[in-house]
Amino acid sequence: MIEVIKRQTGAAFRLKKGQKLKVIDPNGEQVSDMVLFNAKDTREKISSGKTLDFEESILISQGDHLWSNRSNQMMEILEDTNGRNDFLLAPCSPETFQIMYNNNEYHPSCFENLYTNLEKFEIQPDEIPTAFNIFMNVQFDTNGKLSVDPPLSKAGDYVLFEAKMDLLVGLTACSAEDSNGGSFKPIHYEIID
Ligand SMILES: [Zn+2]
Repeated sequence: MIEVIKRQTGAAFRLKKGQKLKVIDPNGEQVSDMVLFNAKDTREKISSGKTLDFEESILISQGDHLWSNRSNQMMEILEDTNGRNDFLLAPCSPETFQIMYNNNEYHPSCFENLYTNLEKFEIQPDEIPTAFNIFMNVQFDTNGKLSVDPPLSKAGDYVLFEAKMDLLVGLTACSAEDSNGGSFKPIHYEIID
């Protein structure tokens, strides 16, 4: 069954070892931030540093694993029809919009959508790690200068993950203007046994 994450919102759910998670961009050009916790001990969580180290790449896609802070495999990426994801930048937060956009008004954010949805699993805001940013198109030059460009994903592009341990998953439809080509769209996902 396809589940819908409405624009600028999020979801959190359990994923058992061996189950697959398909994250779909239904309209194109929409980022989805994903964080993972070990369902049996939430002090173990997804780690950007460990993943980039063990996969020897800053571009994580099909065939790669997502690793934990305890150096265990949490997920394997089985398929990736778009092929561009980011694992460098933290989830957008209220401060992102103040610091990067000079916006002091209330603004929805992935950080808020992650911690409010993960509250039911007793995850605290300070425990939210750097997310695996599905479909996010962060480019960098040889000097290390970063730019956040519109996603390259087209309508129907998806990434298929397989859980390597029992997981708690937080997932969003990202709320940052620059990350999503200037408009906010939904994200679809499906849990496959
Ligand atoms: Zn975001």
